[in-house]
Amino acid sequence: MTLLTAEHEAIRDAVREFAETEIEPIAREYDDPGAVQFPREVFQEAAELDFLAPHYPEEYGGAGMDFLGSVIVHEEFNRADPGIGTAVLTGKFGTEMILEYGDEWQKSEFVRPVLEGEAVCGTSISEPDAGSDVAGMRTTAEKDGDEWVLNGSKTWASNSPVAEFMVVMAKTTPDAGHNGISAFIVPTETDGFEVERDIEKMGLRASPTAEINISNARVPEDHLVGEVDRGFAQLMEFFNENRILVAANALGAAAGAFRHAYEYAQEREAFDQKISDFQGLQWKLADMKTDIETARSTTYRAAGEVMAENDPRHLASIAKYYASEICEDVCSEAIQIHGGYGYTREFPPEKFYRDARVQKIVEGTSEIQKNIIYDSIDEANR
Ligand SMILES: Cc1cc2nc3c(=O)[nH]c(=O)nc-3n(C[C@H](O)[C@H](O)[C@H](O)COP(=O)(O)OP(=O)(O)OC[C@H]3O[C@@H](n4cnc5c(N)ncnc54)[C@H](O)[C@@H]3O)c2cc1C
Repeated sequence: MTLLTAEHEAIRDAVREFAETEIEPIAREYDDPGAVQFPREVFQEAAELDFLAPHYPEEYGGAGMDFLGSVIVHEEFNRADPGIGTAVLTGKFGTEMILEYGDEWQKSEFVRPVLEGEAVCGTSISEPDAGSDVAGMRTTAEKDGDEWVLNGSKTWASNSPVAEFMVVMAKTTPDAGHNGISAFIVPTETDGFEVERDIEKMGLRASPTAEINISNARVPEDHLVGEVDRGFAQLMEFFNENRILVAANALGAAAGAFRHAYEYAQEREAFDQKISDFQGLQWKLADMKTDIETARSTTYRAAGEVMAENDPRHLASIAKYYASEICEDVCSEAIQIHGGYGYTREFPPEKFYRDARVQKIVEGTSEIQKNIIYDSIDEANR
């Protein structure tokens, strides 16, 4: 039985066509180490077609589809190119928490413009000395009259050099660990909010990532998202869903690398035959395909938990962990099938490998996912 309805099949066809015509041809333009840039035009076109987050309600710029609709978009964008695919869809990173915990004013002022392609955002959690250990963050927010005053240093802030606003996580009760963190919308033009340094990365160069210095940055009190000191819980809630979308990014990248490897194997000849005639290569491709379909099943099943309004935590971590791990393996095998050409910038697999490698690190590393998977084994899923 397939989970996919005719509506899902239709969105897949439309997204695939868009990704193959608008994303794939420009992939290399955005891969220059010296010119990290965000593909804003593709972002705007994707917004016009309701591809940024089809599962968001229509009143905030979504398409009112189910969550699987968004999973399919993430998969197809990354299948065309994991650099631009992930970058474009990360342009909405920050709207998730506002949509779930923000008030009506915040949703129309900040979520809607992003979904309409007029603004880009990001979420800034990580700090130089606190990544996996979110509660170890040191950035603070103190109330002063009807404003919040933020101070601290952030790193790995995706989109911060190009974003209109960031959702910044800061300690509001510094001694309370996880229970002392809150979320704030910080427009990037706010005095005291400075992008300090672009970080040069091995891939994903269509997605600018930077260090931020926050020094007495003031935001009005209505820029607090959700409740004071509940930011960590809010973050974990939306991470459960977002990890399924990261799984879809990885799954899509694996499927794209596989497509290139399969097609190359039908053309390349060695020892007077197509290399696809060697059983060794057929088995390699069969293993890659098995990994991809298994990741797809797990990812869709996790999406099904979201749609059934069940707690997706356990399956979301399994999907994210599995898809990102097999993605690296599949991309590596795609390089291998291309032989020496696979190690060059003239063929796509090396770019797929570099761009998609990040999926094992972001939104909780593979090791953190395994901690979550172990911790969420209970009587029902044992
Ligand atoms: C390209 C890119 C984009 C990013 N974008 C963003 C963004 O937009 N916003 C943002 O806030 N952050 C972002 N990040 C940061 C990312 O979320 C962190 O890198 C990640 O959470 C890991 O944190 P860390 O780098 O500090 O590694 P550390 O936490 O220092 O981990 C180092 C190693 O120790 C392991 N480890 C740590 N704790 C445990 C444990 N309890 N059990 C087992 N192993 C453990 C880790 O798995 C890892 O292998 C981005 C990172 C990258 C590379």
